[in-house]
Amino acid sequence: MNVIAPDLAANARKYLERYNESGVLNQIDGEAVPAVSGEWFETMSPVDLAPLARVAKGGADDVSRAAKAAKKAFPAWAAMPPKKRQKLLHEIADAIEARAPEIAALECLDTGQAMRFMSKAALRGAENFRFFADRCLEAADGLALPSPDHYNVTSRVPIGPVGIITPWNTPFMLSTWKIAPALAAGCTVVHKPAELSPITARLLVEIAEEAGLPTGVWNTVNGFGEDAGKALTECPDIKAIAFVGESATGSAIMAQGASTLKRVHFELGGKNAVVVFADADLDRALEATIFMIYSLNGERCTSSSRVLVEESIYEEFTAKIAERAKKLKVGHPLDPETEVGPLIHPNHASKVLSYFDVARQEGVTIAAGGSAFDGPGGGCYVAPTLFVDAKSEMRVSQEEIFGPVLTAIPFRDEAEAIEIANSVEYGLAGYLWTNDISRAFRVSNAMDVGMVWVNSENVRHLPTPFGGMKASGIGRDGGDYSFDFYMETKNIAYATGSHKIPKLGGN
Ligand code: NAD
Repeated sequence: MNVIAPDLAANARKYLERYNESGVLNQIDGEAVPAVSGEWFETMSPVDLAPLARVAKGGADDVSRAAKAAKKAFPAWAAMPPKKRQKLLHEIADAIEARAPEIAALECLDTGQAMRFMSKAALRGAENFRFFADRCLEAADGLALPSPDHYNVTSRVPIGPVGIITPWNTPFMLSTWKIAPALAAGCTVVHKPAELSPITARLLVEIAEEAGLPTGVWNTVNGFGEDAGKALTECPDIKAIAFVGESATGSAIMAQGASTLKRVHFELGGKNAVVVFADADLDRALEATIFMIYSLNGERCTSSSRVLVEESIYEEFTAKIAERAKKLKVGHPLDPETEVGPLIHPNHASKVLSYFDVARQEGVTIAAGGSAFDGPGGGCYVAPTLFVDAKSEMRVSQEEIFGPVLTAIPFRDEAEAIEIANSVEYGLAGYLWTNDISRAFRVSNAMDVGMVWVNSENVRHLPTPFGGMKASGIGRDGGDYSFDFYMETKNIAYATGSHKIPKLGGN
């Protein structure tokens, strides 16, 4: 039986109580408000499927009010001296850190993610604010591009009010990752959090305003994708949409935003490969492979959901993964020992479980897991699973399952490893394990993905570009790449003398 520290459970209940009383409200122009329609929806606990929170069901009217507030707040926010903006964003980071236990507990209860990972959610979120706070000072910087007759200088200006739409897997961290650069760039924001896990987004906007963020700069509208989300992508006052979620939703957003010529930034799905050559440090490769698929319940866009292993070591390496997968501690998200918690929602758990039937139909061997897990509370638990001897063209090797499920595929040589790695529609991340430096260079270059880690798991460094190729996304986040999205580059050409101006109609 899993044990939760009693003070942690009591505090978590206390944190949740507020949302039972007031409901999870929208935040528009500095005010906590219910939906204009007066409608609510309920979220459910992934642990025991009991009702968790009552949430304002925002729609087009709420989005329109929020966008107007963001438009009204934009000129002053964009004109704020960067030093002042930097200080404010650091104050938000301080306030996030001060409420780390609350953020961690609420994130665990709302999403089912384990405390051992969510205990760092506030720190990661605060780090995003601090990193972009310091970048405020150079956000407007450009280039000097002199020509013979003109002195050209570029600068960047914030694009305007932006819409940010986030998914449910690690909502707190992802919200800060998208919102911090937007604010640092001088944009104002309307945020539409995922309907399955809205609580920490509500807390985040409160923290920001309590820390001194001017009203209307950051607005949050809860609701479903097909109404509040869609309205945001169609709203003429919103100049750009930064979206994190499924590839199919990305396509829909692109179509919805077409008539208002929305600039879009997409971080979408993945079916990322970890490629393990026989010459690698296999102990480290094993740890990294296990971490990258079974941490965060496998509900992670950069999860290593395929492991491609060189034939000569395939049996031994996959046997070790299976042994470890069976020993992973599945349990209550608030139990500090838990390594894999319940998945977000029964519908998502059913989707993940349905792949066990697909695997059986495709003739794949299930070397670990392959069923639901009887966890505390009886919620959406899925046993950590390993499929072995899969072929690259099978559905279990091609489709994003987004759970603690790993597909192992053997390969003969380097060429086949690359072919299998690139055989999917996605192109987000790749992981490569080899001690041959020339091979590391060749294979990492040949992988059709936006990010490759060689002899490493996913270790983020905020100045580096984050994003995917193919169906995994459009655009990059991180460092200056974020400002390229949230800002317009403007060129100003100053004539340096009396160059010849073409004369028309003068004779
Ligand atoms: P989703 O696409 O179903 O939903 C994401 C958000 O989009 C939610 O807020 C939802 O309400 C909204 N939405 C849905 N339909 C919409 C529409 N028509 N218009 C506007 N908004 C709409 O994704 P999800 O199930 O919440 O999240 C899981 C997916 O997110 C996975 O595919 C995962 O790989 C991806 N993801 C990608 C990254 C990355 O950085 N590439 C990071 C995390 C998650």
